[in-house]
Amino acid sequence: MTPDYVNRYARHLVLKEIGGAGQQALLAAKVAIIGAGGLGGPAGLYLAAAGVGHLTIIDDDVVEASNLQRQVQFVTTDIGMEKSTVMADTLDDLNPDVKAIGYVGRLNKRNAEELLKGHDVILDGVDHFETRFAINEAALTLGIPLVSGALGRFEGQVSAFLSNKKGPCYRCFVPQIPPNAETCSQVGVVGALAGVIGSMMALEVIKIITGAGEPLIGKIWLFDGLKAQARTISLPQDPNCPACS
Ligand SMILES: [Zn+2]
Repeated sequence: MTPDYVNRYARHLVLKEIGGAGQQALLAAKVAIIGAGGLGGPAGLYLAAAGVGHLTIIDDDVVEASNLQRQVQFVTTDIGMEKSTVMADTLDDLNPDVKAIGYVGRLNKRNAEELLKGHDVILDGVDHFETRFAINEAALTLGIPLVSGALGRFEGQVSAFLSNKKGPCYRCFVPQIPPNAETCSQVGVVGALAGVIGSMMALEVIKIITGAGEPLIGKIWLFDGLKAQARTISLPQDPNCPACS
């Protein structure tokens, strides 16, 4: 433990739920962040700050002016640049203990396992159901815990799945693509809400890595920003789930 290490992680080291062992686990952990957007951004910033040693950022998009209202990992001069590359550089700068790698490309059914293997936790911050299904299926095949988040307007949700087929998976929750699925670009979203949900996702990843508390395994945390109310509901495993049954 160097003085730099003790200084940087002092607020973790004094927590009995994290401490030295938890910090070492964070530094050794490898987390895949899919989607360098409104959820992946704040989540990635907090995970890098927490000292998660290896972060892979997967995204095929470039930064647009309309992203900056909520994607606080980017600045105005990043417009037009590849999101995953810019975000990886930002996370590297935030914490020299972090090795962040940006993958420019879209995760799909064919490449999901290849991209995600070797990670300890997967963070799904995408806004596309087919990609979410591909992530879930790869997580189940690889047995990697998955933290998933979604948001729209003033509402958001977070859930976690162990991907061990002994509990629910993402498709127990969303078996098929909802017929009238709406995107944030259609319905709008408050930027600060992306910070709430993305930060909650980072917190769940940190809990899974360090063993602190009770992660949202098999549960869904629902947040209503307009009412400032949250509730947690249990999600049973679906015996007819197209992915895990
Ligand atoms: Zn399932």
